[in-house]
Amino acid sequence: MSLDLSALRQALHRQPDPSGQEGGTARIIADALRGTAPDRLVTGLGGHGVAAVYDSGQPGPTVMFRAELDALPITEASGVAHASDRPGVAHLCGHDGHMAILTGLAGKRPQRGRMMLLFQPAEETGAGARAVLADPAFTALRPDYAFALHNMPGLPLGAVAVAAGPASCASVGWRIAIAGREAHAAFPETGNSPAPFLARLVDHLAALPHCPDAAMATLCHLSMGAPAFGIAPGQAVANVTLRSNSDAGLARLETDLQSWLDTHAGGLSVQITRHDHFNATVNDPIAAAHVNAARASLGIEHAAYTFPMRPSEDFGAFSAHAKCALFFLGAGETHPALHDPAYDFPDALIAPGVAMFGAILAQVMG
Ligand SMILES: [Zn+2]
Ligand SMILES: [Zn+2]
Repeated sequence: MSLDLSALRQALHRQPDPSGQEGGTARIIADALRGTAPDRLVTGLGGHGVAAVYDSGQPGPTVMFRAELDALPITEASGVAHASDRPGVAHLCGHDGHMAILTGLAGKRPQRGRMMLLFQPAEETGAGARAVLADPAFTALRPDYAFALHNMPGLPLGAVAVAAGPASCASVGWRIAIAGREAHAAFPETGNSPAPFLARLVDHLAALPHCPDAAMATLCHLSMGAPAFGIAPGQAVANVTLRSNSDAGLARLETDLQSWLDTHAGGLSVQITRHDHFNATVNDPIAAAHVNAARASLGIEHAAYTFPMRPSEDFGAFSAHAKCALFFLGAGETHPALHDPAYDFPDALIAPGVAMFGAILAQVMG
């Protein structure tokens, strides 16, 4: 196949789609895959997901490689010629690059078993991997091994970091809606203001250990009352992100916070809704060893990295169904961070990314 993967990457970058609305991106990918004669091509997986299967016709494991279709609701400020032409949406996590890398594997048939390329929707909201897993069309394809890479600014360009065990944190967003009763600002004692409770909540969250080994909470948004001077407030909302290096740790953090809220709410009503839940990604020791052996076989440098990554990755949802490994591919020590408006995926990572997945396939099929 003779696809120009950098040109594909830049075309995807120019027309990004937000999470859950990746129809245009999925069409570009499906068209590119059709030209590589897959044995199966499945579209509409868990939303706009696309999967291509290349079958050796021989018994053996199914090895899945995963990329993400979605971009972010952030305005790009990279200044590159192929910058997003969609206001307020941009590929600032490098998913355009991950898609180009996966497309570089299209058409490859293993010696035995099957290779599956999965382009999943809605990674950034944590909804996409679970939606793919819940899709009956995916059940028939269910892989024995699943691998994904994420480019990682801060690590040397092209170096690989991988380890068995926790690779990315579990997290969940809590929207905490607090209701008391408004009053005239001259008689606040006749109402029930959420302000004192909110102040204690902010202190409580700040006192949690800010360390991914245990648990951390990040206060992301706070609002209370109306922007007026005549009303003592009766309503407040806090958005808090809870994070831990394990699913069990996150569950403990949620139970503890719930009981703290119950204990301290007094006469206020407190309603919680959960959003953007991500499982922890836990690398299987065998799968991680395959990644490391692939790295060594290519002579790629091993980058030092403190696992797990604090941000969450919804690839973690696959851990319960396949031997999984998520690894990081260095995007350069001084490269703008993921989700930074100035970020752009380095095209120099496409070739090593394709080589890594190819070598992993060879290791597993050994
Ligand atoms: Zn991201
Ligand atoms: Zn990402």
